[in-house]
Parts: sequence; structure tokens; C-alpha cells
Amino acid sequence: SPSVLNVEQLCVAYDGRKGSQAAVSDVSLHIGEGEALGLVGESGSGKSSVALAILRHLPDNARIEASALQFQGREIRDLSAKQLRQIRGDHIAAVYQHPGAALNPSMTIGRQITETILRHRPVSHDEARKRAADLLGRVRVSHPGRVLDLYPHELSGGMQQRANIAIAIALDPSLLVMDEPTTALDASVQSEIIAILRDLRRNHKTSILLISHDINMIRRSCDRVAVMQSGTVVESGAANDVFDNPAHAYTKTLIASIPALNYTKRDGRLAEATGPTLSQHPSVPDDQAGPQTERQIAVACRGISHSFGDQAVLHDVDLEIGQGETFGLIGESG
Ligand code: ATP
Ligand code: MG
Repeated sequence: SPSVLNVEQLCVAYDGRKGSQAAVSDVSLHIGEGEALGLVGESGSGKSSVALAILRHLPDNARIEASALQFQGREIRDLSAKQLRQIRGDHIAAVYQHPGAALNPSMTIGRQITETILRHRPVSHDEARKRAADLLGRVRVSHPGRVLDLYPHELSGGMQQRANIAIAIALDPSLLVMDEPTTALDASVQSEIIAILRDLRRNHKTSILLISHDINMIRRSCDRVAVMQSGTVVESGAANDVFDNPAHAYTKTLIASIPALNYTKRDGRLAEATGPTLSQHPSVPDDQAGPQTERQIAVACRGISHSFGDQAVLHDVDLEIGQGETFGLIGESG
């Protein structure tokens, strides 16, 4: 397939108080049309620096060198800020980890999508709004017409991230760079995003660079994967090959550290992981327990209900937190 991204011998270093620190050394990557490349590696291994270098979005204290940084055959390493802005909106788009941070809190989702379209396309406002609704449909928002008029704070993290993807794909980019798009979200959103990526690749020939700690997500959405450690690619190849038969010791460690892949595979299905359950933990015998002190309530809420406009979001919630206690609250996105 035609080359969309070609990176040769990329180096990124950051200037700091202790002088210049290398973050990426000699990384080469290639992505063809409609192809998805996964980038995995431990925290600090240089993944985001690679993404920002490709987007030419590195901070001012970063220095970049590469023997090639080509987008659709065109060298973008030395382009001016203005030329870059054009390429960024139109051809390369990005989605980051924190869905709320990328959205403008004072503008409706519809306005944020239509402004992106109107800035780059000669269409009427009505046409742009119609396209915005279509885009929300493509990212699997079920009532696009209604969501267009909502503000970011009225959406769950998963819905915000889908809005970010809608904005990113509004101009039909050739390359979508996603840096940990689901890390801040729960598993139900992850499946949705995997499905969106599949649709983008199949029906729009979009190429994807997906950075994730989540090996399952990479395996389900990428053809190839590159594994990074300390600023270099230590292993790369077809995603299934790399994860099934990791050659590099570091890749093995990385896979072993992902709980979901410690599940044993039986009959082609994932069996339950076995591990200690709560009841198997030895309980402290009464005579060894500390002295009984009376529990002091620090916060108590009864029957909290809340709504945004006509949409109820909380129904009759009770919770109580004792002094010195840690209270966990979990649930799916939204
Ligand atoms: P994570 O998984 O935590 O997101 P990463 O693989 O994306 O990590 P980078 O964010 O690319 O890693 O960081 C690579 C190295 O560069 C780290 O040592 C980091 O401390 C350093 N670094 C990143 N950004 C800057 C910056 N703006 N100034 C100085 N050093 C930086
Ligand atoms: Mg990062």
C-alpha cells in the first residue's frame, strides 16, 4: 500500500537544567495506507515523544533530528509553522489521553465540530452542522442531534472522547495519531473505540498510529506493533507474532505484566484468571484485632439526585465515609 508515514532515525532530546536528555534515539517507523501501527512500552520509554515529533507538536525545549520524516512522500521535518498547521488539520489528526482537556469547555460539541469544518471547507453553516451530526453518528453516538447542543461537561468521559474523535476525523485525515485514547476511560468505551478504528480503516482508508499500554487493544486494532524501551524500538513485527512469540526479554516482561494476558487460553476462549479471592484471605482472629474504636462519620449523603436540564444523572444515591476511611467509587463511563 502507498506510504503514509515514513520515519527514519528519529532522535528527540529535551533541554533541561541537567543539560540535554535523549528521549528517543534512532527510531524508524513506517505506516502504509489504511494500516494501523501500535506503539507500546513502559512509561517514559519515549512513545509520546515519537507521536509529538510526527505531529511536529513538541514543546520548545525539545530538539529533533531525523534522516527522514515524510508524510505521503513529502518531507515535513523542515516545514514552517503555517505549512504545518495546514497539514495538521487536514491530513494528520490527533487524539490524546484526557478527553476533557482537548475540548473547549465554553462551546457546544456541535459548534466545536462545525468550526473545524468551516475553517477548512467551503460549506454553509447548515451543511457543516449536518456533517457534524453525521460524524457523531460515525463515532457511535446514538442521538447525534441532541449531543450537538451539549457542552463538554454534560458528557461522560467516553462520550467526550468520541466527540474528540469526531473532531479529529472531521476533515477526513490520512493519518490519525492516538496517544493512550482509552487509558482514562473504562473497558466499555475501549470496545467502542476499537470498532470506530476498524470502520475508519475499512471505509475511509485512514492510517493509524495507536499508542497504548493496553496490549489487548493493540492486538485487536493493529496490524503491526513496535515495542519501545528507553527511547529505542527493541522489537517490531506483526502484532500477533510479537505478542505470541516475543523475541526480546523486555517484550516478555511487558506481556507478563498485563493481567489480562496472564489468563490461560483454553478452547480459543479466555478462561477466568485464578487468584486469591477475598474469602481466601486469612481473616484476622478477633483476639489479634486492634482495640475497638467508635467509627466517626466524616461525610454522609442521603438520597442525592441530580440532573442536567431534563436529563437525570443521579437517582437517590446514598453514601457514607468514616473518618480516616478510603471510599472507592467505581462504575462504567457515564
Ligand atoms: P508514558 O507512557 O508515561 O506516557 P512515554 O513513553 O510517552 O511515557 P515520553 O513522554 O515520550 O514517554 O517521555 C520520554 C522521556 O522524555 C522521559 O524521560 C520524559 O521524562 C522525558 N520528557 C518528556 N517530555 C519532556 C519535556 N517536555 N521536557 C523534558 N523532558 C521530557
Ligand atoms: Mg506518553
